[in-house]
Amino acid sequence: MKCNLGIDIGGTNIKIGLTDENHGLIYKDSFPTRSKAGSEGIMSDIKEYCRKLNNEYDIKHIGVGCPGDKDDANVSILTAGNLPFRNVPVVAELASIFDCCNIFLENDGNCALIAEWLVGSGKGCNDMVMVTIGTGIGGGCIVNRDVLRGLHNDAGELGHFVINLEGPDCNCGQKGCFEQFASATALIGYVKKSVNENPGSILAEMSEEGIDGSTAFKACRAGCNVAKEILSVYGKHLATGLNGLKYIFAPELIALSGGITKEGDTLMEFVIPHLLDPERVKISSLGGDAGIVGASLLYKFSDYYLSLRKK
Ligand SMILES: [Zn+2]
Repeated sequence: MKCNLGIDIGGTNIKIGLTDENHGLIYKDSFPTRSKAGSEGIMSDIKEYCRKLNNEYDIKHIGVGCPGDKDDANVSILTAGNLPFRNVPVVAELASIFDCCNIFLENDGNCALIAEWLVGSGKGCNDMVMVTIGTGIGGGCIVNRDVLRGLHNDAGELGHFVINLEGPDCNCGQKGCFEQFASATALIGYVKKSVNENPGSILAEMSEEGIDGSTAFKACRAGCNVAKEILSVYGKHLATGLNGLKYIFAPELIALSGGITKEGDTLMEFVIPHLLDPERVKISSLGGDAGIVGASLLYKFSDYYLSLRKK
């Protein structure tokens, strides 16, 4: 059976997936990213895994997703977030294993967007926006059935429009960006502040084991009014940004992804009351598989990637 390979290179794990001709995920696995081994060690692990897969499967196309910057021809990773990658010719390295395959490289956010658009909650949409809520807020946009790329492929930084001029400093150089109010980091900040002010609350008790993006939701489900109050504020901030995106892009769908969306209905309960168009905001359907599925489908944009190599 012919299939397509998607590789998602992340700072913590390397995820590997195979999709069939109907874009269904037929195989997935992951292994830790050996950051201490440097880019050579990491690429060696990936190539070893690929050799094994290439012996077992008839792999037609290959896509790689990772954070960071690529070269102009989009065949090498120049820098990659917290990965120890400096000018690594990923496409050439993988081509040494898969000599007759097309191999394409894309940032991880666009891979997730492509997956969600082609086979997830955005299937059939002409225009959609995906908002990824994590340490910051990222995402991407499908405009007129194509990925919105912008200069240097930098479009889709959806966390950096200002929603409050008096807000906190952002590492992009502005003040009061959307992500300063609605990222998981922002939510954790609200929890920390509230725990100090309400030491006897269920939230404070639950925070003793450490605070992450799920702490406020757990406390809320346990009946904590302090947590409920925090989530009301957080939900309003998140909805404010999503309402802005609705006006900027007029998408058929705004799909939400990232760790916080695992909270599902509990999250949406606090966001929906503040949305101008709640019918068009949904939690993405592919979850943690979006990166590998999207990478395996990059070949659908082969004209674009090959045109970069000719420049
Ligand atoms: Zn910013």
